Parts: sequence; C-alpha cells; structure tokens
Amino acid sequence: MEKLRKLRPVLWFHLLVNVMVILFVTGASYYHIPLDGIKDTGIYLIHLLLLQTTVAGFIYFLSLNKWVFRVGFSALFLLYCGFSFWAYSQDLSITLPLVQSVLETKTDIAIDVITLPYTIFFLFAITALIFIHRKHGRIKPFNGFKLLVTPAALCIVLFFVLEEMRPGSLKNRLPYNLIGGLAEYYQKPELQLNKQIPDLSFKNDSIALVFVLGETVRADHIGINGYSRNTTPLLSEEDNLISFKKLFTNNTYTGASVPQILTDQDLETNEGVFTSLYSVLNKADFKTTWIGNQTLEKSFAPIANTNDEVILVDKFRSVFSFDKALDEVMLIPLDSILPSYYRQCITIQMIGSHWWYENRYTQEHRVFTPVIESKYIPSLTREQMINSYDNTIVYLDFFLNEIIERLKNETRPSVMLYVSDHGEHLGEEGKWLHAQGGEAAMNPAYMIWFSDSYIDRFPDRVTNIRSMKDARMNTDVIFYKTLSILGIDNSSF
Ligand SMILES: [Zn+2]
Repeated sequence: MEKLRKLRPVLWFHLLVNVMVILFVTGASYYHIPLDGIKDTGIYLIHLLLLQTTVAGFIYFLSLNKWVFRVGFSALFLLYCGFSFWAYSQDLSITLPLVQSVLETKTDIAIDVITLPYTIFFLFAITALIFIHRKHGRIKPFNGFKLLVTPAALCIVLFFVLEEMRPGSLKNRLPYNLIGGLAEYYQKPELQLNKQIPDLSFKNDSIALVFVLGETVRADHIGINGYSRNTTPLLSEEDNLISFKKLFTNNTYTGASVPQILTDQDLETNEGVFTSLYSVLNKADFKTTWIGNQTLEKSFAPIANTNDEVILVDKFRSVFSFDKALDEVMLIPLDSILPSYYRQCITIQMIGSHWWYENRYTQEHRVFTPVIESKYIPSLTREQMINSYDNTIVYLDFFLNEIIERLKNETRPSVMLYVSDHGEHLGEEGKWLHAQGGEAAMNPAYMIWFSDSYIDRFPDRVTNIRSMKDARMNTDVIFYKTLSILGIDNSSF
C-alpha cells in the first residue's frame, strides 16, 4: 500500500507526459483520418491508445535519468513537433522523400515554409515542455522502479507484437515513421559516378545547347499544352518549339529527380554507378557550364561538378535572406559565357515554381488574382493557390522566351531544352506541394526549341523529336535524347 502511495506521483507524471505527446506528436497521424460515426472513432481511438502505450514504454526508460530526460526527451519532442505540424496542417506523411527534402533542401528554401502558425505551435510545444520538466523535477524517478520497469518493458514489447500482427500499422505513424524515414535515408548509398567514359562517335559541329532544369512545373498548367488559361503567351508564338505533354517520373522531389534526369540512371534502378550527362559532353569536346539559382544539394552536387564550370547565383546569399533572387539574374552570366566556345552546353537550374510562389515572379507577371498572401496553406483558398502558381508559369514563359531570343542571335545551330524536375499538387485529393505521390506531381513540363539553323542542318533529328510529341514516356529518355540532339552516339550507355 505504501509503495502504491509513493508510486502515485510517478503515474500522474507519466499520464501527463503521454497526454502531451498525444497532443503534440502522435495525434497528428490520426487527425486527418476520415471517420464516419462512433464505431470508426472508437476503433481509431483504441489504435491511438495502443500506439501511445508503446511510446509510453520508451518515455518511461528515458525518464529514469534526470539529464537523459532533460536533453534527450526535449530534443526528440521538439524535433517531432517540427514534423507533426505538417502532419496536422497538411496531412503530410513522414516518409523518405520528406526526410530527404528536409535534410537536403537549402535553408533559404526551407525558410519559406516557416509561418506564424508554425511559430505559435512551437511556442506552445516549448511551454508544454517546460511544464513537463517542472513536474519531472518534483518526482523521484526511482520511486517504485522495480514495480514499473516490467510494465514499461511490456509496453515496448507490445510494439513488436502489434507490428507482427499487422505490419506497418504503427511503423507508418508518428513517432515511428520518422525513425524509418531517417534509417532509409542513411542507408541510401552515395551517388557513384562513372569516370571511364567509353569512346564516342560524334562530329565536331559547332552547336549550343541551353539545358534549362526547371523546378516544380506541371505539364498541364502550361498554356501551349492545352491548359484553359493562357499561361504561355510568348512561347505560343514560337513555331520551332515542341512541347511534350506526357512525360512522367516517379521522383516527386528535387533530390531524387535531378540525379535521375542528368544521368543514365533509369527510374527502376536506385543503386549502381551512373554516367553524368556532362562527363559524356566533355568527352565530345563540349564546354559545359552550370548556372544555378539553387545551391547544390548533396544528391546532385557531384553531377553538377562534372561541368567544366559551376556558377551559383546564391552562393554568397545569407540563409537569413528571405528574398531569393528571381531566375532572370541567371541571364547575366548566360550572356557572358554564351559565345565562349564553339561547342557549348549551358545548364540553367531554376528556382522556378517552388513554394513560396509569390517570391518567384514579378509584379508585371501577376496576371491571375487574387493571389496567396500567407505561407500557411490551410488559411488559403484553392483559387489563390492556383492563381499564384499560374503566375509563376507566366514568369517561366517570359524567362524561356528571353533564352530563345538570345539563341536566335546565334549563327550556329542552337537548342533550348526545358525539363522540370517534377510537378506539384494543387489541392488534388487534398494534397499540396510535392515530395509525395499522385499524378499532379509526376507529370513535369518538357519542351524543346530548335533554331532555324539547327532545323536546316539536322532536319532528321527534328523530325524524330517531333514524332515523340504525343508519346507517353518517362524521364529515362532525357539523357539519351539530349545526346542524340547533339549528334552524339548514345548506344554505349
Ligand atoms: Zn524540385
């Protein structure tokens, strides 16, 4: 009886901690489940309680040492709050794509997702944490140690029992999904690039390719692809432009899609040694230059670095700078390097239509209104989201037209190839942004423009490309088609 009396404050403390963890972390995985009636609600309530019971076991062991609890629990609690906010507000699942985007996405892009509600949520979480630590300081953790250690261990065992019975039922929810995503991320092998490029057959023609690597542009919002809004008034005037409506990729975020587009990696293969497009071009006597309005992510930096030269617009921009440069700043280095060698490939990596849309275009390109005013998506209407997004496409139309106009001044055969890394969700199935499945994020824009001198010189190549216009294809074709446009034999890859 005496023992039980002493145990009471410990039990109350753990009840409090677990309620807080449900509110700030685990509850987020259940918040968006559509429930119909009392039976559904009851089942998921039991599911949540079972999941929390397994978490309670881990929390108990953490709480046994004052410093482990202060440092370890606090760090984990705040880390999880960072993710649960997105699960609560946008129903995002914490999987490998999201983990990779968070770990590799540049701080300046990441800042664009921090909103006032996010800050308020965090302040509440910190307040809850201080409250928990105060209560923890008042109990003697070793009270009834022997009595609680067995039930706590059994709670942990329950996790494995339930996972055995229904694999994934707990693993796919907070807090376990983050551990799974991190484990998958760190098990992913580093990108291996092929350094021994086989001998190629090619002719030493003068030629210029501007390879524009777009960001977050879905094919069906491009005016010339038949979108109901004319988002591409300038490009629609270009007879030498071919747009491909049906390009698909499984990779819905930059870190996965860019390495696949710029190498001979196919969509089915994740491991192995791949060949960079630029290594091949260098071997074929091209001068290769990378101009980026994004800093290089770990996943594609080795590929960008196979260029002869890398120019990054944002290299010295502070991560505290909210105003990211508009893509047009890349036209300045483009102008200075375009006439520098007889065979050239210049890659331009855009920030494109990446969230937050309002930072991606000028006032002059604000064609569709009302636009988004906040960064907190649940407070915005679908109409505002689509208007702002479409304005970024109008800006893209201007930007690509600027490049085409420059290439028209070239006497040598010239090509502009534009391909976006992935698409974007605009409210389909309640989803927004990208780094998650669904066709809206898997159908990136893809178009190629040829100069008159290119068409005169290589009519067969143009006919061949034109014949693919309406074909359904995936991003595997980009590497090979780019080489064949430049007259390089691609059969050895
Ligand atoms: Zn991207």
